[in-house]
Amino acid sequence: MKVGVLAVGQVAPEVLNALAQGLERIFPDTNAFVIKQVLPLPKNAYDKTRKQYSSSLLLNVVKAFTSKRQDVHRVLGVVDVDIFVAGLNYVFGEAYTPGSAGLISLWRLRQEFYGAKSDQALFGLRTLKEAVHELGHTLGLQHCRRSVCVMYFSNCIFDTDKKQSFFCDQCYLQASIAISNVG
Ligand SMILES: [Zn+2]
Ligand SMILES: [Zn+2]
Repeated sequence: MKVGVLAVGQVAPEVLNALAQGLERIFPDTNAFVIKQVLPLPKNAYDKTRKQYSSSLLLNVVKAFTSKRQDVHRVLGVVDVDIFVAGLNYVFGEAYTPGSAGLISLWRLRQEFYGAKSDQALFGLRTLKEAVHELGHTLGLQHCRRSVCVMYFSNCIFDTDKKQSFFCDQCYLQASIAISNVG
């Protein structure tokens, strides 16, 4: 499977590079790389009242980009703004289940957001977990009931920290089969 990591709006390149490397360690038979192009943050996705971006509208933009690329099977959009879906205060990410596009936000993954001291290693690990989770959805995986599995639903950052960056046995098997069908 070929995975493109795509910045939507301004995102630090070193974060994207580390993420692509991490994804290759987690997903079997997968080549992950950073797409050179940077998509602008669409103005219409910004909700002035909430001061957040609509996750679904951003995901649509990533999907539209994906449909134009024949060289990748999946595109993971990365934003460094706060995102929401209707009915939730915020989300860490969103994806088509199954589909070709996923999206993660870095906004709430930094320790600084929670008033704590910066921790780059923890930030990188959280980023990887959220990315693996959303790409898992694009492979058709649903949420897993095992709290240590990367497919466990993160309601808050504590859930993210509690789970691993990789799949449980069952989810891994499902992901492997899906990837072998993707190519
Ligand atoms: Zn999920
Ligand atoms: Zn699982």
